[in-house]
Amino acid sequence: MTHDHLELAEQYQKELVAEGLLVQTGVMGVYGRSGVFEEALEAFDQFVRKQGQALHPEVMRFSPVIGRANYLKTTHIESFPNLIGSVHSFYGKEKDHLEMLRKIQDLEEWTDDLDPTDLMLTPAICYPLYPTVRDTVLNENGRTFDLMGFAFRHEPSVDPARMQTFRMHEFVRMGTPEQALGHRDFWLKKAEEIYQTLGINAKPALANDPFFGRGGRAMVVSQREQELKYELVVPITSEEKPTAIASSNYHLDHFSQPFNIRLANGEVAHTACFGFGLERTTLAMFKKFGFDVKAWPSETKSVLGL
Ligand code: ZN
Repeated sequence: MTHDHLELAEQYQKELVAEGLLVQTGVMGVYGRSGVFEEALEAFDQFVRKQGQALHPEVMRFSPVIGRANYLKTTHIESFPNLIGSVHSFYGKEKDHLEMLRKIQDLEEWTDDLDPTDLMLTPAICYPLYPTVRDTVLNENGRTFDLMGFAFRHEPSVDPARMQTFRMHEFVRMGTPEQALGHRDFWLKKAEEIYQTLGINAKPALANDPFFGRGGRAMVVSQREQELKYELVVPITSEEKPTAIASSNYHLDHFSQPFNIRLANGEVAHTACFGFGLERTTLAMFKKFGFDVKAWPSETKSVLGL
């Protein structure tokens, strides 16, 4: 982000905090949300859930953590080491505890006394799903899931649209390559309509993930060449640098290979997911329609039941 974009982002953050919609916690990119903010967010979440009901998805909700062993079966740590969150705890004896407290008291480094648990914070809503479907053979219909939850990405920013913890509502498809791609195309179109109905003009754009390091540049090229990622973008803090409020990912066999999810013919299944960014969509609505929900366009309020 350039200096100008950061300034605009920080200005919008200050407005949201002054209005009481977001509550500062003292850590960049981590907020409390007000009742008004949550009401709008939940209304959109429910609207999206209803739009997906025709697909008869299996509804699942996971905690925002994933087992460390399962996490390591993905390539996340190779691609995004700078974004990971690892859960640590204290395993020592009483005297170790006293020593740790002393270090804290004396303002010494104390986190070396912690050791990793079996958990990582989940970097995306669908990560905890794949291990639960491991070693299965899908029937000809494949499977479709409706997920919602928090994800964590360690990227502290003043931009309110770039939170460290945020929610997404995801629809995940497992099946043949055609089924996975069909899911992606269905939701790209459907999501554009959903936002249109709300009065938000969000356009699909080819996108890439922020892969880490020198090897990451090749990943970006390959991801774009294969058109694996699309985002629906809308201006929130900046017109020139619009923000992604929803995204689709066609994973090929990226998750089905390590977790051995297969088709009846023995081939490895393909997966795709479509995720609506709940905080980002809510922020886009507040930006477009103002902070007073009562004054939002009647069409938007009626669609959301607000
Ligand atoms: Zn996903």
